[in-house]
Amino acid sequence: MKAVRLEATGRLALREVERPHPGLGELLIRVEACGICGTDRHLFLGEFPSRPPVTLGHEFTGVIEQVGDGVHGFRIGMRITGDPNIACDRCPECRRGRVNLCHNLQAIGIHRDGGFAEYVCIPQQQAYELPDTLDPLHGAFCEPLACCIHGVDLAEIRTGSSVVVLGGGVIGLLVVQLARLAGATNIVLVTRSEEKRALAERLGATASADPSTGDIMARVTAADGLLPGGADVVIECAGVAETIEQAPSFARRGGTVVILGVMPQGVKVALEPFDLLFREIRLLSSFINPFTHARAADLVASGTIKVEPLISRRIGLEEAVEAISNPARKGEIRALVVPAIG
Ligand code: NAP
Repeated sequence: MKAVRLEATGRLALREVERPHPGLGELLIRVEACGICGTDRHLFLGEFPSRPPVTLGHEFTGVIEQVGDGVHGFRIGMRITGDPNIACDRCPECRRGRVNLCHNLQAIGIHRDGGFAEYVCIPQQQAYELPDTLDPLHGAFCEPLACCIHGVDLAEIRTGSSVVVLGGGVIGLLVVQLARLAGATNIVLVTRSEEKRALAERLGATASADPSTGDIMARVTAADGLLPGGADVVIECAGVAETIEQAPSFARRGGTVVILGVMPQGVKVALEPFDLLFREIRLLSSFINPFTHARAADLVASGTIKVEPLISRRIGLEEAVEAISNPARKGEIRALVVPAIG
């Protein structure tokens, strides 16, 4: 079968490899779609630790082709979405129920072969059923959505909350929708692209703002701004130093800031501890998807979260190497690798 292999830092190639066989308790999945996430490029550049040689792709969905011995509750032909993050269940954090902080965390598509391939083999406990009637590509959004659900849970958005979302990529646009569902009444998306701002307003943002013109902080938090005094909750979804540094200033006194964006390892940003203390800002980070994948699958399966508008292009495995190793195209939200395209 064809697979996109990270052979070493900076070396990504489409290779012919042996189709995997499902071992005890494993499922062989025929991949229908796998999203290209910013993390894939970080992995390619060596900015996020991985274990090459490995097939990348952690946002996959597909149909069960074969089941290994000891599999229960799954059958051939069932459509599933895969939770890529495998916790050890033995380390101190797993035993505290903090599975996303597992000391021995293994991720499909990072440490073991993933979904930029015709087939991927996964342990049954990582699979969640999706309806046959669902668009076959939509399940690829369950993984990023599950990460956003964790961030929104941590933010403790309440009915009537005001929320600022920084960054209008797939994460920001999913967070906007989740904030709406959680009961926020005023949701402001800050992002530079006009198309993304317009899309955010269609998906549930009550307003949007372009940070590249004028004084963005005043436009949002000033007395005559969109959210005078700042937001109850700020969710950083851009993963750039500028927005991480700005995030606390968008929050009201006593407000909550959740950092979802990932910066390359080792990069430092400037924050003002006095301001965080004096205004008692709750500053939290949100890492991956502890126990949220099933909820994500339900939200995608039911159509409650809209994912179709987030698909910018569908490409085959032949085009995937170029797409993963370069920055996303201007205006692109999510490119999906669809092995059936070729
Ligand atoms: P993305 O497509 O790169 O989206 C980020 C968006 O931020 C860009 O589209 C860009 O849109 C906007 N942006 C850049 N600079 C900005 C600025 N100064 N002010 C406002 N907006 C700015 O990435 P994504 O896939 O949505 O992911 C977002 C972040 O979440 C990434 O860092 C990713 O690694 C991370 N992530 C975290 C988790 C987790 O578990 N914590 C899980 C998945 C992803 P414009 O061009 O419109 O400004």
